[in-house]
Amino acid sequence: MIIKDGTPGEIQISKRQLLKSIGMVGGSTAVFAAMQGWDLAGATEPTKAPPKITTDGHGKKIIILGAGLSGMTIAYELSKKGYECQIIEADDKIGGRCQSARKGSVIQEVNSDKQTCNFESGQYFNYGPWRIPAQHHPTLHYCHKLGVALEPLINKSPMAYYLADNIEGPLKGQRLRQTDVDLDRQGHIGELLAKCADQGKLDDMVSVEDREMLLEYLKAQGLINRRELNYRPNRARGWKDYPGAGEDFGVYSDIYKLTDLFKMKVGAHLENEDHPVVMFQPIGGMDRIAHALYDTLLKGTVHLNREVTNISQTTDGVSIKYKDTVSGEEMTAMGDYCISTIQFPVVSKIENNFNPELQKALKAPAGSPAFKQGLQFNRRFWEQDDMIYGGASMTDTPGHAITAYPSSELHSNGPGVVLGSYIWGGEAARLSNLSNKDRVEFALNVGEKLHPGNFHHHYNGNAVTMAWHRMKYHLGGWVTWTRRKRQRQLPTILKGENRVLFSGNGIATVQNGWMVGAFEGAWLTIKELDKRAAQG
Ligand SMILES: Cc1cc2nc3c(=O)[nH]c(=O)nc-3n(C[C@H](O)[C@H](O)[C@H](O)COP(=O)(O)OP(=O)(O)OC[C@H]3O[C@@H](n4cnc5c(N)ncnc54)[C@H](O)[C@@H]3O)c2cc1C
Repeated sequence: MIIKDGTPGEIQISKRQLLKSIGMVGGSTAVFAAMQGWDLAGATEPTKAPPKITTDGHGKKIIILGAGLSGMTIAYELSKKGYECQIIEADDKIGGRCQSARKGSVIQEVNSDKQTCNFESGQYFNYGPWRIPAQHHPTLHYCHKLGVALEPLINKSPMAYYLADNIEGPLKGQRLRQTDVDLDRQGHIGELLAKCADQGKLDDMVSVEDREMLLEYLKAQGLINRRELNYRPNRARGWKDYPGAGEDFGVYSDIYKLTDLFKMKVGAHLENEDHPVVMFQPIGGMDRIAHALYDTLLKGTVHLNREVTNISQTTDGVSIKYKDTVSGEEMTAMGDYCISTIQFPVVSKIENNFNPELQKALKAPAGSPAFKQGLQFNRRFWEQDDMIYGGASMTDTPGHAITAYPSSELHSNGPGVVLGSYIWGGEAARLSNLSNKDRVEFALNVGEKLHPGNFHHHYNGNAVTMAWHRMKYHLGGWVTWTRRKRQRQLPTILKGENRVLFSGNGIATVQNGWMVGAFEGAWLTIKELDKRAAQG
């Protein structure tokens, strides 16, 4: 992009650089507006486009294991070049982890009661992926290309609450508005910094010019008093009595003490770049992406209810055994290549004739427990009583991290589905040991602390709970590696073996808990297959 500034040397910067600059000045709202103007949802960076396939696939058959985003992306891209693709999927639905529960959806964990979703009025709950950041260009690429309509997801709402039970002091057990705590943390630290700078205590670290600019920056924020440099109640912090007309100037809210705030860990950890304030979600449910991909495939490409039981290869082909999960019938598919997108803890248990090094590598990553639950309420009290629109309240209650509010149908009178808890790791494993009823009761009790008198009262009895590590075909929300194992074993998995390759979000480096990992993984595998096919 060229910025015309009227000078002979026009400045050349990328859209990404420009968006970053807009973000620094105007925040996420400005970036969002700019993105919409450019239709960035479709404008992928050159390095983030699907790979060019050089080989002609006519006459070659690829057997893909798993009809999640990765498997269907591979089939979609390879079919364009004439490859015949057959997807074998154990589940009775497409999408893998990319699922949304609606009235009638069924969830069946291992050794657990079958759940049938009973949400009212066309509402849904994304029990797998739910947020897309603008940085995830491959995900946005497919949304745009396949016509999946997106809407903003409000990831942080300033009016949502922080609640810390496991601390001492006056803030213990109090529900505190996030905006108040965030500003008080910033204001108190601004005061300390400004006073240090003013008293020359930073002179060893900054030049006189920088010190003056730092002081001016801190004053201009509007949190500290320009003369005394004190942080005290002010307009940015807000009001406990909102101002009106005439002589009603309102009353500023009180600020919390720094020493009390230091004790509180909730909300102190900044989320990484993949969690901006404004994100995206497909209108109507995340599974729209999976269905849009499925719709691009030739009829008969995907075979559901087919559990792969054996993967064998010879020098010039593969033989995949699978059984019909309904009738028990055993079948075999033959192909030129096989690409598995099944999570490693699952595929490593399938009978195979891989070399021992590969078998060991597939066993290296562990499935990470991940737990989510969605609860439906007959009144949107978080909006009507608490002024919370989207975003998430956070607590330090063991087994709970966030309660997230819906970003769609704001201000409606109808019911709403709230993400009652989302947690991973050891706490997720512990929580998921409870019965479905007790899981819901746990979320209601935490919610009751955040919204006293409302959570139990307005819960309409419809909930969906999901422990991904207890799903037979997933055994985890994603996989985790130790650094050492990743360094040693991932290259072996990436190499696969002659006619068999491994894909899915598990082969992504950092983003292996995101859909973008599934797309990037698919692209990497397509490149590798193209290379192998070219070599014959
Ligand atoms: C709780 C949770 C929250 C998430 N949140 C987000 C988010 O907010 N944003 C985001 O971008 N991403 C998120 N993700 C990540 C995202 O869901 C995944 O990265 C992506 O869906 C993985 O796609 P995949 O195709 O690689 O794997 P999968 O979707 O797991 O596909 C693998 C397929 O293999 C099938 N299979 C397994 N065993 C067999 C067998 N024996 N025979 C045949 N088929 C078999 C499975 O049934 C499955 O369909 C989240 C994931 C979870 C679990």
